[in-house]
Amino acid sequence: MNILKLYALSGIDLLLEILDALRTRTPDQLAAEVGVARKDITQLRWVARFYDTDDVRSAARGHYLGTLTACAVAVRNLKSPTKSREQVLLECLEAARGLTVEQARAKANDIVGVHNEEIPQPPPRRQRVHTQQAADPLGQRRLIGTFNDDSLTRMEKALTPRMEELMREGCTRSEALATAMEEAVTGTLTPAYQPALFLPLRASEGYFKDGKIYTTDGAGIPLSELDGAEIGDTGWVIVAAQDPDTGEIGAEALPIQRFADTAQRLVLATETMICTHPDCDQPAWRCQFHHIVAFSHGGATETPNMLLLCKVHNGRNDDTPGRTKNGRMVRDDAGTPLHHATPSAPGRRQNHRVTWKGWRREMEQFLGDPTL
Ligand SMILES: [Zn+2]
Repeated sequence: MNILKLYALSGIDLLLEILDALRTRTPDQLAAEVGVARKDITQLRWVARFYDTDDVRSAARGHYLGTLTACAVAVRNLKSPTKSREQVLLECLEAARGLTVEQARAKANDIVGVHNEEIPQPPPRRQRVHTQQAADPLGQRRLIGTFNDDSLTRMEKALTPRMEELMREGCTRSEALATAMEEAVTGTLTPAYQPALFLPLRASEGYFKDGKIYTTDGAGIPLSELDGAEIGDTGWVIVAAQDPDTGEIGAEALPIQRFADTAQRLVLATETMICTHPDCDQPAWRCQFHHIVAFSHGGATETPNMLLLCKVHNGRNDDTPGRTKNGRMVRDDAGTPLHHATPSAPGRRQNHRVTWKGWRREMEQFLGDPTL
């Protein structure tokens, strides 16, 4: 090995010389002989392997060693099924002519990137499920399905909570998957937690006859028509009542409209259960959500700035500062909704008996009575 000759070489000639030298030496021997690190020798050998045809070698002529290395590194990342490494390497070398090593590296990466994007996507495959037509002697039938990976992953994710329950009960994973899938498809899956408004009703209050809720003004509202009512935002209403003739206590659960913005509406609706105006008995589901400081005057849509008012009292409230025609609803320091007939008049609160079913009265009682 003529070291002086080696150091005089550059580019492809150096690579070929290294390959040639390695025919009769190990990388360790060569590294020791020419006074470089072993990894330099093995890296040059790795690069040289990309320059293994006459075409590539002649195209490489005149390029810096750094450019040849950069092109080899770029081409290593080629994923195109239609272009060979050699074709793309030739393209890179051609494009790199006259460029610095850094420019050539960027160019080669671009070229490989473009070829990689040309990879044709396989057409989407249809999902399919086969069911065995006849049951086996044990009364079972096979279900064999092929799903796209992402959709099967989503299904497994949806079934996982139930599967984990079943596996805790001793099912194997495949048994749990089968049961969870059956429950999900047939609709017997354990329902998830749902908020509900509980309406306990006394027979003497005359609220509950013939599956209807009777309002304090005597109007009967079928439970099914609660859908869309303001109270419907609780998601579920559970109405419990006592049959006045037999004394039997029963309950009915009705799925109704899911939350709109709703934790807040639920809190307001269950605070007094009826319009907060002291002279009113309109039930919560007929009420609106009133801003104490009007939204148009900068009032926040937050529970302390809101209360439940029926359409009439919401419309009559003296919203405009300074107006004293019908009086104005406020909350006192404890948050109690109060009506002031004039700014200086004492506040009056809603005392209808139904308000004792709301959380505010319950809470006042709870705080005021140490035995509760
Ligand atoms: Zn009212």
